[in-house]
Amino acid sequence: MAIQSTLPAPKNQPSAAAAAIACATSTTGSSLSSAHISRPRACQKRNAVYAAVITATGARLRELASSGARSLLLVRIEERLDGYSVLWDGEGTSLATSELPAHLEVHGFLRKNGSPYSAVVHTHPTHLIALTQIESLARGDALNQLLWSMHPEVKVFLPEGVGFAPYRCPGSSELAAATVEALRDHRLCLWEKHGCVCVGRDLTEAFDLIDTADKAAQIYLLCRGAGQEPQWTG
Ligand SMILES: [Zn+2]
Repeated sequence: MAIQSTLPAPKNQPSAAAAAIACATSTTGSSLSSAHISRPRACQKRNAVYAAVITATGARLRELASSGARSLLLVRIEERLDGYSVLWDGEGTSLATSELPAHLEVHGFLRKNGSPYSAVVHTHPTHLIALTQIESLARGDALNQLLWSMHPEVKVFLPEGVGFAPYRCPGSSELAAATVEALRDHRLCLWEKHGCVCVGRDLTEAFDLIDTADKAAQIYLLCRGAGQEPQWTG
């Protein structure tokens, strides 16, 4: 399940419908969004608060287009990115995704470090998650060596490789801290047995990085499923 939000500056709040479209595709202009997604430039205003459209807890990506009002919330994010309040709850859902704290932690990290990346995507790429279940691959350089070897685009678009956060309870501050630590040297951080978080200049860029890495993982698993060990040097 991918979870997304859009955080425009207060004076430029889009309609919920427009924000929902941005969540499903990409962010532009002053939007700050996260699948979780964000926009540090907007956050640099002093004494500003931010409005965000974000998926509700339990929302399903496949239902966003047909039932956005049931899947989305409009929330107010405090300037310090340490809290939120619900401004509009569609059809009565009152809780944002449990991963909102992790998103805010990442957005705060990006802002503090003057990062050029304004989009944060969290999702559950099946093949990458499967690799994190294999202990000998999940940690260290082996996973990156494998991904680079499965498809040349991984080496081109993710030359720094992917980072890794050991399993922590979803929605916990421990998981958020491990994610930020991994994002110091990477744009894509795998969450062991859960999913990943990826940052980019916009949603499309972040999503593409995930898609590229997940395809490499899929190729490896297909080869293994066919009874063959693909060539890699790990
Ligand atoms: Zn998740």
